[in-house]
Amino acid sequence: MILIMRIDIIGAGPSGSYAAYLLAKNGHDVSVFDKKQDIGKPVQCTGILSEHFLKIMKPSKEFVLNEVTTARIYAPNGKSVNARIKKNYVVCRKKFDSYIANLAKSTGAKFHMEHSFHSLAKGNRISTILYNKGKKVKSSCDILIGADGPLSPVSKAAGIYKNRKFVIGSQIEAVKKNDNCVEFYPYIGCYAWIVPVNEKVVRIGVSGYKDTVKELKEICKTKKIGLTLENQSGIIPIFDPSVKTQEKNIFILGDAATMVKATTGGGINQGLMAARILSECIKNRKNFDIAWRSKMHLNLYFHLIAHKIMQKFSITDWNFLIEEFSKPDLRKILHDESRDDIMKMMMKIAIKRPKLFIFAKYLAI
Ligand SMILES: Cc1cc2nc3c(=O)[nH]c(=O)nc-3n(C[C@H](O)[C@H](O)[C@H](O)COP(=O)(O)OP(=O)(O)OC[C@H]3O[C@@H](n4cnc5c(N)ncnc54)[C@H](O)[C@@H]3O)c2cc1C
Repeated sequence: MILIMRIDIIGAGPSGSYAAYLLAKNGHDVSVFDKKQDIGKPVQCTGILSEHFLKIMKPSKEFVLNEVTTARIYAPNGKSVNARIKKNYVVCRKKFDSYIANLAKSTGAKFHMEHSFHSLAKGNRISTILYNKGKKVKSSCDILIGADGPLSPVSKAAGIYKNRKFVIGSQIEAVKKNDNCVEFYPYIGCYAWIVPVNEKVVRIGVSGYKDTVKELKEICKTKKIGLTLENQSGIIPIFDPSVKTQEKNIFILGDAATMVKATTGGGINQGLMAARILSECIKNRKNFDIAWRSKMHLNLYFHLIAHKIMQKFSITDWNFLIEEFSKPDLRKILHDESRDDIMKMMMKIAIKRPKLFIFAKYLAI
């Protein structure tokens, strides 16, 4: 028999709405609160999902704008590697977030927009204070979930936020004819990208700790990017291996728990996976912190290690590495392995090219 619980979720992004869907489907009384007026707006994301997405959800025409099967990785010397990749999906975040929220609504979850979480009130049950159009609102629940993005006010209120690091993702959607290939510039900022939305529109962005707007302007000039259609910039948390995701009956997931791949800034699949693990843990009364770590921690950690190493790369290192990736055996690994499973990918690369271990020296600096 299932014990019906009152569950409040702060944040109607993909992580929060997917958790709402799964928990309401399990019979719980779920309410989602978001400070925004509209779900998914403003867009602050490129919306590219690796093939790993298929393990979580079926892609739908309702939100998929494009499919991509080629990546082009550039070196500072201008050389590039074309790699076939498994099908990646480019989504419209407004439609994607609304799609998941509608799934949740269809299972009975209630959504309250323009409700900004403010703090926790003292009491026997978990009691939250929110503001709706300037008016104070109180809500009580058995379980509180913070799926409230990189700055996670819920983590702060629960006293588990600690120090966090972020990169800035400066991105625009703009007019640019293209050949439906994802372009990746790992040596610009922390990394830069051009992702095709359709044959005439791309999302182009730079992530980094500083100067991302300047770098974005430069790459737009070099690549002769046309009219800007939308600014879609935002902040991206760097995975913190010691992040605390559970404090009694308060749980944190998605960007709020820094569950983001440090080499690419991708966090949608990770937030969805964590939502699924959390709903299973609530159902089976298991420890969420242990459960998500057993499935996701190592990969997020390997992304972090790779990010740290690549921050130290010289131009010569990049030219050398990308030259190596132009060889068929390494290109095959890029095709066969998902970047969501970077551990397996790195292991295969290490077996083929033990000499690349030389870059581990940067961890000591
Ligand atoms: C420029 C850029 C490009 C990116 N590109 C990709 C990509 O291509 N692929 C990918 O997988 N990931 C990408 N990401 C990361 C991705 O956007 C996040 O990982 C993803 O949105 C996390 O989902 P979430 O539901 O955890 O958090 P969010 O989507 O941030 O949702 C959090 C929600 O909480 C709400 N909220 C915050 N504070 C409060 C409050 N006090 N009260 C009530 N509600 C609150 C917010 O309004 C928001 O709706 C990118 C990020 C950026 C910035």
